[in-house]
Amino acid sequence: MTDAATLGPVAFIGLGTMGLPMATRLVEAGCAVRGSDLSAAARAVFAERGGMSFETARETAEGAACVITMLPDGKVVREALLGPGGAAEALRPGALVIDMSSSAPLGTRDLARELAARKIDLIDAPVSGGLKRAVDGTLAIMAGGDTALVEKARPLLEAMGRTVIPVGPIGSGHAAKALTNYVSAAGFAAACEAAIVAGKFGIDPGVFVDVLNASTGRNNSTENKMKPVVLSGTFDSGFAMALMAKDLRTAADLAEQLGIDAQGGRAAAKLWADALSALGRSADHSELYRYLARDGAS
Ligand code: NAD
Repeated sequence: MTDAATLGPVAFIGLGTMGLPMATRLVEAGCAVRGSDLSAAARAVFAERGGMSFETARETAEGAACVITMLPDGKVVREALLGPGGAAEALRPGALVIDMSSSAPLGTRDLARELAARKIDLIDAPVSGGLKRAVDGTLAIMAGGDTALVEKARPLLEAMGRTVIPVGPIGSGHAAKALTNYVSAAGFAAACEAAIVAGKFGIDPGVFVDVLNASTGRNNSTENKMKPVVLSGTFDSGFAMALMAKDLRTAADLAEQLGIDAQGGRAAAKLWADALSALGRSADHSELYRYLARDGAS
């Protein structure tokens, strides 16, 4: 039996792009995993992969010692835990909730207080790495909350991620996640904009990406997104533009709440919000390139 399997039945709420492979990693580690999602198709795929599927969060949490949430944002997480038919209705005192979604950090602090009143513990443990690393179990996980609780959760987290970095008190993981996505989104936007300008000047955009990757302009997006997802025209990174825009709003709001005049963060939040309203909620985040090239540059 693996260390992860000793932690008892785990409830996993949110079997989407990321949640499905993450929950599957737990099944493969020998855990009894009770999954739920609004989507019947997602529940069916999870059952095929050896998990147990349930329609509601409350049913999923029956008898679970630990609940993992991998949902679009903190508001949805709160509803799945504390709303009608939510997981908290079934959880016993001493249960641990791990929110692995990219939620807003101040909301996470409030949620921790409300769960504590029911003697339920919370840590935040959002992830970085995307679909491929979720499938491989090599995500980067940044954990916020009481150190003893993070250590208690570690066997589960290590079944899904290669690095687990405790970053501070409750909400710190979510703050670190929003800020890291700001850095990632800014790097991606700069790479797209520069490739569009280079193209207009007559430089082959693929050659320009080679230049970036051999130079100090290199970043994760230039290496892993520009050719495979953007210049190929597939725009299929698996990370929605709506989710990226949400993370940038979270980062900009956090700076504002802390009294910091974060001009770059504000500009990034506006750029991605504008692109989202132009392209719609079904857009992949990599389609920012299409938005930036909309005036005919390419
Ligand atoms: P997704 O939209 O693919 O999946 C979310 C799932 O939650 C969907 O299957 C949806 O049906 C389900 N859901 C929504 N409301 C629900 C509810 N009330 N009860 C049960 N299920 C519900 O999103 P994703 O890409 O898997 O992202 C999940 C979280 O991880 C987000 O916070 C995102 O910002 C973050 N994230 C995503 C990536 C990525 O590359 N996709 C990378 C890192 C972090």
